[in-house]
Amino acid sequence: MGFVKVALEDWLDFAFPRLCACCSDNLLRTEMEICWSCYANLPFSVHGYGMENPVAKSLWGRTPLVGGYFLLNYKAKSEASKMMKALKYDGGVMMAEKLGELMGEELLKDPNYRPFSHLVPVPMHPKKEKKRGYNPAYLIALGMSKSLKVPVNEKVLIKSKMTATQTKKNRLDRWYQTSHSFEFVGCDDHWDHVALVDDVVTTGATAERCLRSMYVNGVVSASLVSLAYTV
Ligand SMILES: [Zn+2]
Repeated sequence: MGFVKVALEDWLDFAFPRLCACCSDNLLRTEMEICWSCYANLPFSVHGYGMENPVAKSLWGRTPLVGGYFLLNYKAKSEASKMMKALKYDGGVMMAEKLGELMGEELLKDPNYRPFSHLVPVPMHPKKEKKRGYNPAYLIALGMSKSLKVPVNEKVLIKSKMTATQTKKNRLDRWYQTSHSFEFVGCDDHWDHVALVDDVVTTGATAERCLRSMYVNGVVSASLVSLAYTV
């Protein structure tokens, strides 16, 4: 049976070649959405979990945090940016989950990691999510949940207002854009040390809004975890 499956997969790869999201080379059966050589060249972060992590530093003096963590340095037009684009727009469902799982594994190895109680992905507006088919932050959280054994609560943080795409706006514009657009509606659970999970953190404006609503509505403490951080 195993042989038949492998033969079928080989035939599928031949008939419908899958391409690497970064370099567009043909992918091997054992490779996910990116090839091993692109994977090896991804700009992995050297920063550990904690308040000294740049993701946490981006919110210093703005909102309380237990710590911050991210996996990849994000730079426009880099390999990581191509991969993030694939993650967002080309249906990189498996890759988002896989990288989330890897991020969880890295956190478990980190001596400063303080276990999370819940994983709460930054929501997309329902209309936008319907158009795209999935929320990358949710898939990253699902992957993290596999390795960390912490539940994902994707329904407790709600985005209530449509915002324009944020890539070309400055911090002040983003502040106004994201103003009052997130609402934490968690029930009576004990929300002590929630990880807010996002795909990319740039200025931290979105995370700040989410965290403020979380603290006002019953979350005791939180960390910010992102797949990528803009350097
Ligand atoms: Zn590649």
